[in-house]
Amino acid sequence: MKKHNFSAGPCILPQSVLQKSAEAVLNFNNLNLSLIEISHRSKDFVEVMETAQSLALVHLQLQNKGYKALFLQGGASMQFLMTAYNLLEKKAAYLNTGTWSEKAIKEAKMLGEVIEVASSKSENFNFIPKNYNIPKDADYFHCTSNNTIYGTQMQDFPKTEIPLVCDMSSDIFSRQLDFSKFGLIYAGAQKNMGPAGTTLVVIKEEILGKVSRAIPSMLNYKVHLDKDSMFNTPPVFSVYVSMLTMQWLKDSGGISAIEKVNNEKAALLYSEIDRNALFEGFVSKKEDRSKMNATFNLKNDGLKATFDDHLKQAGINGINGHRSIGGYRASMYNALPLESVQVLVDVMQTVEKGA
Ligand SMILES: *Cc1c(COP(=O)(O)O)cnc(C)c1O
Repeated sequence: MKKHNFSAGPCILPQSVLQKSAEAVLNFNNLNLSLIEISHRSKDFVEVMETAQSLALVHLQLQNKGYKALFLQGGASMQFLMTAYNLLEKKAAYLNTGTWSEKAIKEAKMLGEVIEVASSKSENFNFIPKNYNIPKDADYFHCTSNNTIYGTQMQDFPKTEIPLVCDMSSDIFSRQLDFSKFGLIYAGAQKNMGPAGTTLVVIKEEILGKVSRAIPSMLNYKVHLDKDSMFNTPPVFSVYVSMLTMQWLKDSGGISAIEKVNNEKAALLYSEIDRNALFEGFVSKKEDRSKMNATFNLKNDGLKATFDDHLKQAGINGINGHRSIGGYRASMYNALPLESVQVLVDVMQTVEKGA
């Protein structure tokens, strides 16, 4: 039986998507050729790329609004540099909500001045700072919508005159937002969209072309836009599986439908964390809790071996916390069914009864 997969990333994908991906690797579109051995410029693959780009914009409700979708390589980590390379002329404003924000700040500093508008570092990033000021003369404001490691998630995004740039790697397509507020959204595929190897970048084209530096081709959004994500060979398998996942999401009712299930899963787990005396949540303010990654601890470390043993017996995979904060982290991405969360809650209750 398939395990209950709470892995933080690479993470669970819909079973039907895995099945179709496996078939396409053997025989794609009845061509009697594998998906991964045909030209990326063949009609069959060009159609995959176009469908993937279009589905991304449809899900985010950004069609015909001046946005384009790209599938690039280098992970979200490459976007830490690329966003700054293309958008930072003098100075940029960053919200520091964790390791990924810090890494983005580090890259941006190579290209200009970085104003850290607020940080939750002193509290080990266990909350989302609010009520900060964003300098009006900054070139853009960068934030991380969901902090995969700490289990915090932004519920509100500031109104800004300057472009809003967001790392949505771990909650893309999980909830409805007014995505037209954003100038640039990026997301590594492996958290909620597909396998590692490609990164979705959604850009409002009008924000480009404002920096004076020369931009190397592979780091230049304009170059990739002009070539429709085919400036060089794209990661064909990752793009294909991402396309299938976006189709699965559409067939499941889109973001609005999946958001309801995500809310149910999060409510089920967090209510158990709060009720069960053996556990405590990591995030200090409940309103900042992530619906994608729930972080929690066992109050009594002596029960760890018992809890871990029950988790294993129940077929639960991937819920150890990130090495930098320890404890447990249950990642509940789109493809994780509610039943898997119920199995985890049952284990928490079994251990409570035995303690
Ligand atoms: C995982 C993650 C990253 C890093 O992604 P890579 O694709 O490994 O570079 C960046 N930001 C967030 C929010 C993440 O969860």
